[in-house]
Amino acid sequence: MTAKIIDGKAIAAELRQEVAKGVEALLAAGGSRPGLATVLVGENPASQTYVRMKRKACEELGIESFGHELPADATQEEIEKLVEKLNADPGVHGILVQLPLPAGLDEEAILRAISIEKDVDGFHPINIGRLAQKGREPLFVPCTPAGCITLLKKAGAELEGAEAIVVGRSNIVGMPAALLLVKENATVTICHSRTKDLPAVTREADVLIAAIGRPEMIKGDWIKPGAYVIDVGVNRVEDPSAKRGYRLVGDVAFDEAKEVAGAITPVPGGVGPMTIAGLMNNTLRSAQRASI
Ligand code: NAP
Repeated sequence: MTAKIIDGKAIAAELRQEVAKGVEALLAAGGSRPGLATVLVGENPASQTYVRMKRKACEELGIESFGHELPADATQEEIEKLVEKLNADPGVHGILVQLPLPAGLDEEAILRAISIEKDVDGFHPINIGRLAQKGREPLFVPCTPAGCITLLKKAGAELEGAEAIVVGRSNIVGMPAALLLVKENATVTICHSRTKDLPAVTREADVLIAAIGRPEMIKGDWIKPGAYVIDVGVNRVEDPSAKRGYRLVGDVAFDEAKEVAGAITPVPGGVGPMTIAGLMNNTLRSAQRASI
């Protein structure tokens, strides 16, 4: 069996197009242009790249972007003050504090300082709490996990009653992905570094989301034939034949897995593009809400 490849790039492009149209419609209706503020602390090269990509996406879709860069030794107070200023700015509809923050800063306090109406990353404890509660809805859902669910649905996965396994329990991917799957009425198992006999667990999955950060850890024979596999991992592995000396691989051994799975996301070109498209969508929704 050869799996259907889930084209995240194409699905994200559709969503981006919808966002661009939504921005135009909002402006035509007299609403204000959506604005996203990015806050980058320090000089982590990966974070710099992610922020650059997010700001470029804003530009392409007609969203105003406001970049704020602070040195690695910025204090907790300085960052929280900036967040408060952005909370009060009517031109800013979304605030994104790029994670991870330099060591020593209180990440939770900074995320909590963001107004929940502008929490387009969906990491505010209130938004996450609502995601975990039955019958409650967060204002925003974290973009990467939301992208995973969209990809599963677009690929035709039946989530209701499915045996869903999430490997990884981070605040930004694994845990919210598991909560979203519960909301979709899947039966969810969360695995992590202390899980005993991980392959035996993943082999039961109709739907498998891997968010581990370990290159190609999930092998082909860990996958149930016909399963839907979403690979969130982005890992650099050395490759002297590649222009930059490395290439990107996921947490799933793609070549093996695609011979077993029913559908699978590639890395790159799977979940990654959905994250930025989701952020743009959340920013538009925030601006729409502010214009009502
Ligand atoms: P993280 O915070 O490091 O969490 C990794 C999770 O994997 C933890 O829950 C950890 O378990 C678990 N884990 C680690 N080793 C394991 C093992 N040997 N067996 C089972 N579980 C294990 O990472 P993250 O931020 O969630 O990111 C995960 C991956 O997704 C990374 O490759 C990251 O680059 C990628 N990512 C991609 C996007 C995107 O847009 N495509 C966005 C965010 C992240 P413990 O909790 O027990 O430590």
